[in-house]
Amino acid sequence: MKGVFVVGAGPAGMFAARQIALAGFDAFLFNRDIKPGGLAEYGIYPLKDKMKTGLRKQFAKIMEMPNVHYIGNVQVGAAYDIPIAELEAMRPAAILFALGAQGTKSLGLPGEELKGVYSAKEFVYAYNRLPPFASMDYSTGRRIAIIGVGNVAIDIARWLLEDSPERQTEEVIIVARRGPLEVKFDKKEIEHVDRYISREQLVQELERVRERCERAGQDVSPEKVIAEHFRHLSDPKFESVPPRLSFRFLSSPTAVFGDENGRISSMEVAENNLVLRDDGSTAAKASGETARIDVDTLIFAIGDTHDAGIGLPMGRDGYATRPNPDAPQEPSFEVWDPAASRVFPGRFVAGWARRASTGLVGIARHDGELGANQAIEFVKNAPDSGTMEEAEIRERLEAKGLRPVNKADLALLARAEAIKGSFADNDSMLRTIAEEREATGVPST
Ligand SMILES: Cc1cc2nc3c(=O)[nH]c(=O)nc-3n(C[C@H](O)[C@H](O)[C@H](O)COP(=O)(O)OP(=O)(O)OC[C@H]3O[C@@H](n4cnc5c(N)ncnc54)[C@H](O)[C@@H]3O)c2cc1C
Repeated sequence: MKGVFVVGAGPAGMFAARQIALAGFDAFLFNRDIKPGGLAEYGIYPLKDKMKTGLRKQFAKIMEMPNVHYIGNVQVGAAYDIPIAELEAMRPAAILFALGAQGTKSLGLPGEELKGVYSAKEFVYAYNRLPPFASMDYSTGRRIAIIGVGNVAIDIARWLLEDSPERQTEEVIIVARRGPLEVKFDKKEIEHVDRYISREQLVQELERVRERCERAGQDVSPEKVIAEHFRHLSDPKFESVPPRLSFRFLSSPTAVFGDENGRISSMEVAENNLVLRDDGSTAAKASGETARIDVDTLIFAIGDTHDAGIGLPMGRDGYATRPNPDAPQEPSFEVWDPAASRVFPGRFVAGWARRASTGLVGIARHDGELGANQAIEFVKNAPDSGTMEEAEIRERLEAKGLRPVNKADLALLARAEAIKGSFADNDSMLRTIAEEREATGVPST
């Protein structure tokens, strides 16, 4: 058999598996989490029901394809359950890595390890109930700073202002390295939370940074910025409601300070100037002045990076892929060994693993499909590799003490969750699957 292993069952991996199965090959999805979906399940805002339900339906259809196999609860990588060499020993005809951007960017600030300081990804995983984050402490306080001005920062602000069960938020402060013209969030996302913005505070903040932005040739007059990015606030009838959502521009965190209980109590930010580069873009440059902001929670929403624990060569914004000097804009999906200046034959990478934290689900899907097409072309021209059958793979993993989850297990879990609600930890899920198997007589393979 010529089977293609796809590592990661987020949107990129799922749609890659579909493509591979449609081409007539067997696709084996290896996934760290028990359930498939990746950030589509565990990242996208919990109340975006329509989108999440639609994606779940599409994933369910992919799972119904007889030549798509699912091996969940198994983490691939040199630092994890199965190093790549052990996957290779199962004789795949090709491997496509679609495992997302699982590394966390750190600014390396003094005090970053204090309680109440979180990475956005883990915080989002927790409120979307991904084990083990769902049962860990991501408690928030009254004044929360979020570093970053993209859609993820706005999702988190929305959670804290509206939906968090903790219900004690008084103020969320979005801290941006650069100015108001460099915000990255989409209009429709800010509109979920713009009623919490005080027009007066926003105008004050725009006036505070106005001169520094003007020196870089930018017009950040309140009328212009409000019309461009905070449309509802220009309505004369606009009135904000508590809690408060505020912005602090031209500020980079430099240190975090704690209280006697080891929890963050304040942070220091460097005041930045805006510098205009030759290509017209802007950069933040510390002015030498600093300020202290009292906060009891700090969340970094500055994007993620690719995981160094896998054993794939690291590139700048994702795993290294073959450079294409003839057409640098044409994406390459082939894993590249920079030390030997050659590709690893039959090894491909797609989605956020190829370009960390880049694009929405549609982009990840498209990337997965393009990566799969390259893998399919490779496999068509390769000899039969004699890929192991799913049952043999499962036996091998169980012999290592792992507890892989297959499509039948997912169906049993879904049945139980429909009655009992979703589980916050892997042990409860695995126990429930075992109990359901026992009760229904569904065999494990
Ligand atoms: C907070 C947040 C909100 C978002 N909201 C939206 C939105 O509203 N709309 C939208 O269109 N897009 C949204 N996105 C973007 C969207 O989620 C991504 O574009 C997409 O999920 C990326 O797909 P992927 O398959 O490359 O990676 P992921 O979705 O991250 O999937 C990676 C998969 O790989 C698995 N994996 C990881 N490591 C391993 C390993 N070592 N071994 C085996 N498996 C592994 C994971 O379990 C996961 O299933 C959001 C992203 C974030 C972070």
